[in-house]
Amino acid sequence: MATLGNKRNTTDIIQKHQFDFRKKFGQNFLIDKGILEKIIESANITPDDCILEIGPGIGTMTQRLAEEAGEVVAVEIDKNLIPILDETLADYDNVTIINEDILKVDINRIVDEHGGKPIKVVANLPYYITTPIIMSLFEKHVPLHSVTIMVQKEVADRMKVGPGTKDYGALSLAVQYYAKPEIVARVPAECFMPRPNVDSAVIRLIRYEEPPVMADDEEWLFAVVRASFNQRRKTLANGLANAGNLAVSRQQVEETLAKMGLPITVRGEALTLEQFSELSNRLLRKRM
Ligand code: SAM
Repeated sequence: MATLGNKRNTTDIIQKHQFDFRKKFGQNFLIDKGILEKIIESANITPDDCILEIGPGIGTMTQRLAEEAGEVVAVEIDKNLIPILDETLADYDNVTIINEDILKVDINRIVDEHGGKPIKVVANLPYYITTPIIMSLFEKHVPLHSVTIMVQKEVADRMKVGPGTKDYGALSLAVQYYAKPEIVARVPAECFMPRPNVDSAVIRLIRYEEPPVMADDEEWLFAVVRASFNQRRKTLANGLANAGNLAVSRQQVEETLAKMGLPITVRGEALTLEQFSELSNRLLRKRM
C-alpha cells in the first residue's frame, strides 16, 4: 500500500537513509496526498498502461502509479535515491528503475522494450530541465498518449497561452503543435519538501491523433519559431534574417510576410501557430 505523500513519512525515510537534498537536481518532493491523487486521477491510468515517470525521487508518485498501471518505468538521475526506491517500492513487482539522466537515455528504446505501445508520461519534473524534457519527448517522436506533469506555474502558463501575450513563445508553439494543453491544478509551494520559491501547476498534454496544423518540415518550422523569439524585442524579419542557421535574407522574409498579408514590422508574438506553419513552408520553398 502507498505510504508516502505526507510530511511525516517523507521525513522518516529521508532521515533513515541520511539523504541530502541536491538542489542541482531540482529535488522538491511532493508531500501533499490531495495533489498526488489529483495527478493520478488526471492521468487517467488503466491497468493496460505503461507509465514513464521522470524523476521518481523517493517513490511517492511511483507507488500510486504502480497501483494503477500495468507497468511503470522510472528514470532517476541521483544514485543516492536508488536504495530508498528499493525500499519504498519493494512491494511492487511492476516497476523498473533506471538510474540515468533522462536527457541521455534513449526513451524510444525504453518504449520498445516495454511493449512498444504509446506510453503515458507522469512526473513531478525537475524544474531546471522542464523545457528540454518536453521538447525532446515531442521532437524525438516518442510514442506518447499523454503527458501529465507538475511544472513551475509560469511554465504551465507558457505552454497554454496564445499569441499577443508576454508568455507566448517557442515552448507554447511546440507544445500546441503536438498536443492540447490543459491546466488541471494549481499547487502552492508548501506542498513540497523542501519548499521551492515558486508555485507550481499540474498540466496535462493530450497528444493529437490528427494534428490541427501540419508543417512540411517540422524541424525547419521549429528552427524558424526559435529564431523568431530569439530577440524578443526585435521584429520577426530581423530575428529571421539575423539567424545564421536559417540562411534566409531579409528580402526573402519581407516578401513572404507581404504575401501573407502581414506587416514587415510584425513581431513573432503576434503570429498564430497556423501562420508560423505557413511562414515556414513558404520560406522553405524560397530556399530550395
Ligand atoms: N517524483 C518525486 C516527487 O514527486 O516527490 C520527485 C520530484 S523532484 C521535483 C525531481 C526528481 O527528478 C528528483 O528526484 C531528481 O533527482 C530527479 N532528476 C533531476 N534531474 C534528472 C534527470 N536529468 N534525469 C532523471 N531524473 C532527474
